[in-house]
Amino acid sequence: MDLSNINIEQYLRNNDVKPSYQRLKIFEYLVKHKNHPNVDTIYQELVSAIPTLSKTTVYNTLKLFLEKGIVQPILIEENEIRYDADVTVHGHFKCEICQEVYDIPLDLSDMKTEGLEKFIIKESHIYFKGICKRCNIANAQ
Ligand SMILES: [Zn+2]
Ligand SMILES: [Zn+2]
Repeated sequence: MDLSNINIEQYLRNNDVKPSYQRLKIFEYLVKHKNHPNVDTIYQELVSAIPTLSKTTVYNTLKLFLEKGIVQPILIEENEIRYDADVTVHGHFKCEICQEVYDIPLDLSDMKTEGLEKFIIKESHIYFKGICKRCNIANAQ
């Protein structure tokens, strides 16, 4: 899902979110950076440009985005929620060295979900953890 060229204001309106300045900036941050940030990261990155921003506002805004289905939570660690504006199904890989969370494209048509025929799947979260290519190469040198 490529969100880089969308009109964010229109996108929020279409999804029943009133596009306040802070909401626009927070969604724009997610779309631009694709770094799967947590609340703290978003707050720290935006507070110098938006001095009136509070962590509570960031938290509540993300909660609203989640309710409206325009972000998905990444629950790869039990003590931290990260957020992704790409809500299409894809996997995530978290590197234990650089802590980066990578997007992993998935072809669900290849995935066997035997026994789920009569179930309604509302969310899928597919996580991998380990050492990313970059850190692995750096380690080997
Ligand atoms: Zn890494
Ligand atoms: Zn992602």
